[in-house]
Amino acid sequence: MNLEHYIGGAHVPSVTGATFTALEPATNKPYLTVAAGGPEDIAAAVAAARTAFTEGPWPKMSGDQRAAVLRRIAAAIESRDDEIAARECRDTGLPITQARGQAHRAAHNFRFFADVITTLGEEVYRVASAQLNYVLRKPVGVAGLITPWNTPFMLETWKLAPALAAGCPVVLKPAEWSPASAGLLPEIMEEAGLPTGVFNLVHGIGEDAGAALVAHPDVPVISFTGETTTGQIIMRNAAENLKALSMELGGKSPLLVFADADLDRALDAAVFGVFSLNGERCTASSRVLVQEEVYDEFVERLAARASRVKVGAPGDPATELGALIHPEHYERVMEYVRIGTEEGARLVAGGERPAHLPEGNFLGATVFADVTPKMRIFQEEIFGPVVCVTPFSTEAEALELANATRYGLAAYLWTNDLRRTHRLAQSIEAGMMWVNSQNVRDLRTPFGGVKASGLGREGGHHSIDVYTEAHIVHLATEDLPIPRFGAA
Ligand code: NAD
Repeated sequence: MNLEHYIGGAHVPSVTGATFTALEPATNKPYLTVAAGGPEDIAAAVAAARTAFTEGPWPKMSGDQRAAVLRRIAAAIESRDDEIAARECRDTGLPITQARGQAHRAAHNFRFFADVITTLGEEVYRVASAQLNYVLRKPVGVAGLITPWNTPFMLETWKLAPALAAGCPVVLKPAEWSPASAGLLPEIMEEAGLPTGVFNLVHGIGEDAGAALVAHPDVPVISFTGETTTGQIIMRNAAENLKALSMELGGKSPLLVFADADLDRALDAAVFGVFSLNGERCTASSRVLVQEEVYDEFVERLAARASRVKVGAPGDPATELGALIHPEHYERVMEYVRIGTEEGARLVAGGERPAHLPEGNFLGATVFADVTPKMRIFQEEIFGPVVCVTPFSTEAEALELANATRYGLAAYLWTNDLRRTHRLAQSIEAGMMWVNSQNVRDLRTPFGGVKASGLGREGGHHSIDVYTEAHIVHLATEDLPIPRFGAA
């Protein structure tokens, strides 16, 4: 299979003819040749999007009209959900059952933002009867969308849906390790009747295609999801043109288990929270903090459950943990397993390639106990099926440990003490906290992190804010006094 860019309604190779190869994570065999975009391809895509912005119908259409197209996009995704899931599974190593769930969520993203754009209220302020002030929400222009390799199709649509709903033409630069499912978007957009030039896709390496998109002066907003270090580079480069940025970055989210919690459910949540989606999940509960009274029991049960997590071929419906994305990433995760052992953490489950999977990027569900805050495995995002468990004695200590990394994306709290819940909600440094729950999303709520986990929020009207400019109109409805300079 070959994948090309999609610019101004046409499938095109790179101007330079450059390509790169995508690997299948379950075997590490090359299976896809992909156009490798650079500044010329980005320039062509931005020009097409810019024309769609200045001359095309999309930004001028009503919310209702755009919503109708978004709903057709959702239907076109649903009609291909098996194909999307199969591509994603092969391309990313995600277990097929989980890939299917992500395809459904992608369709939902479009339906959801169709509803948001049709129900969004207008801001109006009145000064008695004398002045009416209202806020026009204008599409900001060409939106640059740069996305990561984990759950790629879902995360691409999480940005595409609100950008399109807001009236912005887009240039999408998907991650180079997982380009396959984005290759279905052109036909989906065409089938739904999206006007030509509104959706543009440029594949390529981040430092080439991604950086060119960030540097382009006709792209006023970049919505980025990826690593914190990449986010820092993008922020520096975007400063040149004072671009608006939305940044969804890395995480090292704590899951706190107090002795009074429902331990069976806390265990289910801890296992699912870090081993689902191959542990390649920004909100993974990768640090489990457990109160001393129940620590030994919890570690033992967590290790037992982890060792029974089914690691296997991504296409097998029984698989719970598939293949990690890429040999380079696999090596990085394995390096953290070595680091954890050298740092003196106690490896109680996993840590090695399962014997029945001799090739591909497979790792057993891995649990390190007795991890201390000074250890690198406690501090750094591993982004794989590796969890660190640390004991605490008091609520104050739990809070200190929870906040002891540079990240602040999510937190998970297991306790039945209502007052403690409210106290911790006030003090935990995270953009989101789930209490006695796994990561259940309500798409209306603001998703995002604090500290090194990001800037800004996406979800509901917060996403629409990313892709629109507020323009206030002050309208005098009766003659207000105007100082008459120069009249005397
Ligand atoms: P990454 O930062 O390596 O790459 C993300 C995207 O940025 C890719 O498309 C890449 O090509 C591009 N890129 C790389 N260098 C660039 C540059 N100099 N200029 C412009 N673009 C550039 O991230 P990744 O490894 O693909 O994804 C994993 C990371 O994403 C993890 O840290 C994870 O926590 C994070 N993530 C965060 C969220 C969230 O919502 N907070 C969601 C998913 C993933």
